[in-house]
Amino acid sequence: MNNSKILKRSSINYDKNHSINISETIFPDEICKQCGRCCIVHAYEDYEGEKMNVVYCKHLNLDTKRCNIYKERFHTEKGCLSMMEAILVKALPKDCPYVAHVEHYQEPKIYEKIRNSKKDVRAINED
Ligand code: SF4
Ligand code: SF4
Repeated sequence: MNNSKILKRSSINYDKNHSINISETIFPDEICKQCGRCCIVHAYEDYEGEKMNVVYCKHLNLDTKRCNIYKERFHTEKGCLSMMEAILVKALPKDCPYVAHVEHYQEPKIYEKIRNSKKDVRAINED
């Protein structure tokens, strides 16, 4: 039996709020071009294959491409990522200014599909 006493236990926990705060310091908002593409949830061609439907987060204003809940987005929309998280999970298009100069950054295929689509692109909000 180990008789040594544990005086103080320390552990490393993931703190989302801390990550958000650090992310805002490293990646200032001013760099964003407000294209709205990082708020795309998914994209698909419709049944007849005539349109490319691009589905955005329900909180994105499709006209201005601005978030309707920007200040409280991380608390209201659990799936909303800080910039640091978005870079790590490769959620951004490769020409986004936050990653355009990041070596070895790979965008997800969805952006290429939308970019290369010959169909009319229709922007819609998630249900
Ligand atoms: S993809 Fe990049 S530039 Fe476009 S809205 Fe997102 S962070 Fe801003
Ligand atoms: S909640 Fe997040 S993903 Fe949704 S529109 Fe706002 S910034 Fe984009």
